Amino acid sequence: MTETAAPGHGERTPLLRSMGRGFLGRCPHCGEGRIFGRFLKVRPHCDVCDLELAHHRADDLPPYIVIFIIGHIVGYFLLETETNYDVPLWFQLTFWPIVTLLGSLALLQPVKGAVVGLQYALGMHGFAKLPVPGAATGPQGEEKPHGPGDGHAADRAAGFGPA
Ligand SMILES: [Zn+2]
Repeated sequence: MTETAAPGHGERTPLLRSMGRGFLGRCPHCGEGRIFGRFLKVRPHCDVCDLELAHHRADDLPPYIVIFIIGHIVGYFLLETETNYDVPLWFQLTFWPIVTLLGSLALLQPVKGAVVGLQYALGMHGFAKLPVPGAATGPQGEEKPHGPGDGHAADRAAGFGPA
């Protein structure tokens, strides 16, 4: 685990690595913080690097991918056992639904994490802006109060004010 934790300022983790981190339930940006607070509930932001995770739009994609994967695996082995072995019908009707259910539950969270990693790597949705290093400890620059003169300065700069 000597992998560099957080990439430098403005750098985005490459696609496959960020998807792999998401698959393992880790933050795609730093690889340290956890993505999920509960089973499929994504945390609002990473506790380690402050990457905003709440803006992901995984929506229905993870279930579609899980159905695609589990459907192909279970469908293949169901046909294989049905054609090559003398398996009783009750076994086929109880074993494969259980495998489907458990496999889907096992894959759903990792696949959703990988989808979040994919959206992060492509800069989609709320992932367009990366966390600023040190932002978690508080803003460093002083905030300028908006005074009445600000608008005039902007007008003069744009050439609208008095010459
Ligand atoms: Zn992070």
